[in-house]
Amino acid sequence: MTIESVLLRPKSNHMSRTELSSLGEFGLIKHLTDHFPVRRGSTILGPGDDAAVLKTPQSELTVVTTDLLIEGVHFDLSYVPLKHLGYKAVAVNLSDVYAMNAMPQQITVSIALSNRFSLEAVEELYAGMQAACERYDVDLIGGDTSSSVSGLVISITAIGYVAPDKLVKRSGAGSGDLLVVTGDLGSAFLGLQILEREKQVFQATKVAQPKLEEYEYIIGRQLKPEARKDVVEWLQKLDVVPTSMIDISDGLASEVLHLADQSERNFVIYEEKLPFAPEAQRASDELNLEMTTCILNGGEEYELLFTIRQSDYDKIKGNPNFTVIGHESDEIKSSVLLTRLGQSLPITAQGWDAFLQR
Ligand code: ADP
Ligand code: MG
Repeated sequence: MTIESVLLRPKSNHMSRTELSSLGEFGLIKHLTDHFPVRRGSTILGPGDDAAVLKTPQSELTVVTTDLLIEGVHFDLSYVPLKHLGYKAVAVNLSDVYAMNAMPQQITVSIALSNRFSLEAVEELYAGMQAACERYDVDLIGGDTSSSVSGLVISITAIGYVAPDKLVKRSGAGSGDLLVVTGDLGSAFLGLQILEREKQVFQATKVAQPKLEEYEYIIGRQLKPEARKDVVEWLQKLDVVPTSMIDISDGLASEVLHLADQSERNFVIYEEKLPFAPEAQRASDELNLEMTTCILNGGEEYELLFTIRQSDYDKIKGNPNFTVIGHESDEIKSSVLLTRLGQSLPITAQGWDAFLQR
């Protein structure tokens, strides 16, 4: 991704424009799905018939999850390239399957399009989805296509499988368990703040700020997040089955509280342990935002947050993918953040909320 390709994309691009109506619905579906190969043995029949057909791997459980993405609510096409949107839509959906410690193998994709979209635009969207299918080794097995009177709507369903003894829910955290997070936090939120700021400057001046170059990492974390397939593989390799797990879509605070609620436990997290990238720190300084607040309340990281028994600590110790940020405590009545100054602050969920008035 180059930064120019994100913000400086000419609105009326010089690519040719083919109207969707020129293909018709079936022509469009065939055109879009033709390039998706079948990779998985569990996919018996993909797009083209009345329904897809799967063969559930023997003795495994099936995991199913759905996401709905609405233009103007979940994404803004003025700075999100369609290819990135396609990739992200698939990645964030798969993230929910990984958060169950399961391996996704199939997705369905349903879209509603207004005639504002050309065939070339939809091709871009599907190119991103295809890149994600390749990266995460999943099959596109079907979907639905409709017209829309306003914006773009995307609904994705992912199907995955897991051995019954490997399934991890939000509810299993136990006494004294360690709270572990993958990767670094706060970057996706700060990347979005930078993009929002640049969008406003750009709209006012029509001049792009070279500044964006400095923030390639955090903007990438916002526009092209990766789901942590590797973490599920690591856990398998290290022979660790977390006691509870969730993916971080709405900010760390909100996800810690989900694990706490559903496990009926409380956690202490340590501010000094929270992992973040140097570039995120620079952006938070520039934007006058507290790094810790961005970590707690910023969302869309798609890192995994999980608990393990203390006896499993040696297995993950020293692995750069994992940071222990706290632990379960039987001695407190609600989950708290222990600050660098030694204050104990109750954790509250201020994360992104789908029903927030914006
Ligand atoms: P029906 O009218 O029976 O719902 P459709 O014409 O909607 O059939 O779909 C025909 C086939 O194309 C089905 O296999 C369906 O899963 C697939 N399909 C439809 N839309 C999409 C899409 N956007 N992406 C992938 N597959 C699709
Ligand atoms: Mg249909």
